[in-house]
Amino acid sequence: GFRSRAAFKLLEMEEKLKLLKPGMRVVDLGAAPGGWTQVAVEAVGPRGQVVGIDLLPMDPVPGAVTLQGDFTEQEAEDRVIAAMGGKADAVLSDMAPNTTGHHATDHLRIMGLAEIALDFAQRVLAPGGAFIAKVFQGGTEAEMLATLKRDFAVVRHMKPPASRKDSAELYVVATGFRGRG
Ligand code: SAM
Repeated sequence: GFRSRAAFKLLEMEEKLKLLKPGMRVVDLGAAPGGWTQVAVEAVGPRGQVVGIDLLPMDPVPGAVTLQGDFTEQEAEDRVIAAMGGKADAVLSDMAPNTTGHHATDHLRIMGLAEIALDFAQRVLAPGGAFIAKVFQGGTEAEMLATLKRDFAVVRHMKPPASRKDSAELYVVATGFRGRG
């Protein structure tokens, strides 16, 4: 079974997208308790690689490397890169801060994490790679959206059925990374 309800959000998006394939290298940001990591391990199979990281400790996921660290710190990003065997085919971020209940604060924080995830993705993705990140209702900020459209062939937003209707979360899905420079 899956460790989190969140696993179904990725499964439902994947049903439509079919992005994750055997042999791929995937990074999972904000991985605890490990539902997305489980889905990714299953999709990429034994020839693939999955590296997850979270602020919180998590039980090991067979077939994945999981790290504990604050991804807003450079050191944590360096550890993820060190654990990867090469460029990533997909960077997934379900990172979310603890909500304060103050809408504007929560919005800013979640978008800050999505921007950090995108900045990382731009550095580690292989050409053709994919990026999925949790964002906030209203979609991606204009500046981030412009960057995504410049760097990826297709950009869309998805609200998987497993995401509660009353929650403001949404995912931005960008595919076909154009590569750097
Ligand atoms: N995708 C996960 C799953 O399927 O089990 C659920 C992720 S949960 C919605 C969001 C996670 O983001 C939390 O575990 C939280 O600790 C993590 N997170 C928040 N800020 C973070 C940061 N700065 N660095 C790493 N992880 C962070």
